[in-house]
Amino acid sequence: MLQQVNTGHKSLADYATIATRGLMDEIRRLAEPLAGKRVVHLSATAFGGGVAEINYTLVPLMQDAGLEVEWRIIQGENEFFEVTKTIHNALQGNPQGLTEEQQQTFRRYQELNAKQFEDEYDFVIVHDPQPVGMIDFFPDSNAKWIWRGHIDFSTPNRDVFDFIIPSLGRYDAAIFHMREYVPKASGLPECYIWPPAIDPLAPKNMALSAEDAAYIVDQFGIDVERPLLTQVSRFDPWKDPLGVIDAYRVVKQQFPDVQLALVGSMAHDDPEGWDFYNQTVSYAAGDPDIYILSNLNNVGSVEVNAFQVHSGAVIQKSIKEGFGLTVTESLWKTRPTVAGRVGGIVTQITDGETGWLVDSSMECAEACLEILRDPAEARQRALRGKEYVRRHFLTPRLLRDWLVLFNRLHGLDTAGAEVATVAAGA
Ligand code: UDP
Repeated sequence: MLQQVNTGHKSLADYATIATRGLMDEIRRLAEPLAGKRVVHLSATAFGGGVAEINYTLVPLMQDAGLEVEWRIIQGENEFFEVTKTIHNALQGNPQGLTEEQQQTFRRYQELNAKQFEDEYDFVIVHDPQPVGMIDFFPDSNAKWIWRGHIDFSTPNRDVFDFIIPSLGRYDAAIFHMREYVPKASGLPECYIWPPAIDPLAPKNMALSAEDAAYIVDQFGIDVERPLLTQVSRFDPWKDPLGVIDAYRVVKQQFPDVQLALVGSMAHDDPEGWDFYNQTVSYAAGDPDIYILSNLNNVGSVEVNAFQVHSGAVIQKSIKEGFGLTVTESLWKTRPTVAGRVGGIVTQITDGETGWLVDSSMECAEACLEILRDPAEARQRALRGKEYVRRHFLTPRLLRDWLVLFNRLHGLDTAGAEVATVAAGA
């Protein structure tokens, strides 16, 4: 059997203080006819990156809503994850395609994982491309299969996209973060649109006082009396940590005291991570005010929380970004947030209103300078950003969207509760 992730326990009732009563009632009403339905989430890793982050909350809350929910991790060696990373990059627009041998490796691991999986569920939720082809081995499945895409598919490498389309076409539904991500292709199932969400009560996002945050950040050698800029991201070229270093160097000319933290964990399904980590370290060229930290330095959820809370500005200078949970995490902490004007980031930040959207390292530097010069004004934007997150990007809304879809796929009446759909091939 595929390895199961223990997500512990969470109670929906705890979220009543954060979500509106209307939303909590809707969740209860939608969950009622689904009591006891069996759900499994399949993904490539239980650690590092957005999918893991979401599932650690979504799985126990679905469970608390009355469904029987599991989360299982597919198996793979490096040769498989090298192929899936190529697929991931290609679906985000990288021209490099798959060789015949890589395609075979991918199919071999889909079969291998399918053999270790029994589809005795009402709903099988497959996250991202890594396990997308397992469905091919269950032609007579009674389960409803749902594919959840977490990356930006607006300009995919067509060859690689065509490689996964036959599998995608077998699903009962596909979910994308944004309308723009639904590829223009025939053969897709019905497509649904909703963004992910963060858990405001998880250690990563729970309220942390400024003093506690400073106390934690201090332990990593940061001078808490001096300004700090932070980016929290996997070491990945799409997250552009080198561009962040460029921006920091410009800021440093005017604020010689400024420090930079690049906090990034290493996901086990990301073999490129170490190479790019090393490139980032050498780009920093031994600057003692640049702190490059990862889970190897014991940076876990609470530490990420502390870095975000303590930073004068939080940066997410991505050049491609499916959604960018880190942006929502930062806004939720009322941090002035500077982020690339790409992908799902633009659904979270309104430039000039709730944060800063930037197209280059220079613009990123200018935004940070503006924030450091006038922190009171920057805080006003951040406060508006927090309110936007409260209404759109917290877990109860995400749970509700899933429950609406489950009801729909079972032909149950959702009594006016809807989620956005896009006709396939539109
Ligand atoms: N994250 C973390 N530690 C790190 C780097 C990232 O906990 O060192 C978390 C981050 O806080 C966020 C998630 O991993 O919750 C990354 O999600 P996002 O959507 O920003 O990017 P992805 O990694 O999925 O591309």
